[in-house]
Amino acid sequence: MAFAHQTLNHQYDNSLVSNAFGFLRLPLNFEPYQSDAQAVITGVPFDLAVSGRSGTRYGPEAMRRISMQLAWEHCRFPWTFCLTDKLKVCDCGDLVYDFGDPHSFERNLTAHIGKLAAACKIPLCLGGDHFITLPILRGLQPQHGPMALVHFDAHSDTYAQGSQCDHGTMFHRAPEEGLIDKSHSIQIGIRTEYDARDGFLVLPAPVANDLSPAEIAQQIIERCGDMPCYLSFDIDCLDPAYAPGTGTPVMGGLSSDRILKVLRALGRLNLVGMDVVEVSPPYDHSDITALAGATIALEMLYLLASKQAD
Ligand code: MN
Ligand code: MN
Repeated sequence: MAFAHQTLNHQYDNSLVSNAFGFLRLPLNFEPYQSDAQAVITGVPFDLAVSGRSGTRYGPEAMRRISMQLAWEHCRFPWTFCLTDKLKVCDCGDLVYDFGDPHSFERNLTAHIGKLAAACKIPLCLGGDHFITLPILRGLQPQHGPMALVHFDAHSDTYAQGSQCDHGTMFHRAPEEGLIDKSHSIQIGIRTEYDARDGFLVLPAPVANDLSPAEIAQQIIERCGDMPCYLSFDIDCLDPAYAPGTGTPVMGGLSSDRILKVLRALGRLNLVGMDVVEVSPPYDHSDITALAGATIALEMLYLLASKQAD
């Protein structure tokens, strides 16, 4: 399937009809492993691991729908190039799994991501609750080894008691399984109980809100160095004023403006995978949170594109 290099809205100029659009009106491609795409978007409509309010299974659908509002700019402000001129991107739809069998979900997601990584694609997953990051990391690990983690969140997600396995435990398990290297990992925006002995570098929200975006980005880049890096964005890193539609909102978060400036300064990271999680449309208003999630996902794609040669 050809990738348009003109304004994304106009890539179907030669067709009179289509109602099957991917994120940002990008082509849907259900065989992404064989495609020439460099980055592959996957919806992961899973919310069986929440500790509180569910609803993130509707996140991918909501982010895709609102992303249509973002498709008209040829060069997204303030970038100076068109995304699809520099990066081949496709959307392969939503992960298939049996809602009655959470283990099939883990297996399928790990297998899907593993096939993408083996084909040298960079996955960008739209959640879903934050638990999805664990099977994603497992899929990337054979290709990329222990990764640096850049984790935006109100919660450390390092909580673990016994065999507990939910959307607040992944980053306790991921280092244990050799998926991430804590000494090169950083958590930004934390503003709930966490254990400083966990071994991550933490920029709590009150600290991050007193730093400049450039200073935050610098700390992230210094921490990760050249390591293969996974970027995970829990939408509750944003203040509930900017992202009310999420399962566990916490006051005192970062603003949209601050997050966009930080993300745009992360071009030096060696990104091998990314996600935007915890958008929960049943608790959203006016699509505020879906728009935040879709915009952050788009900025992640622009980050990848900015690293490609002209
Ligand atoms: Mn969170
Ligand atoms: Mn989280």
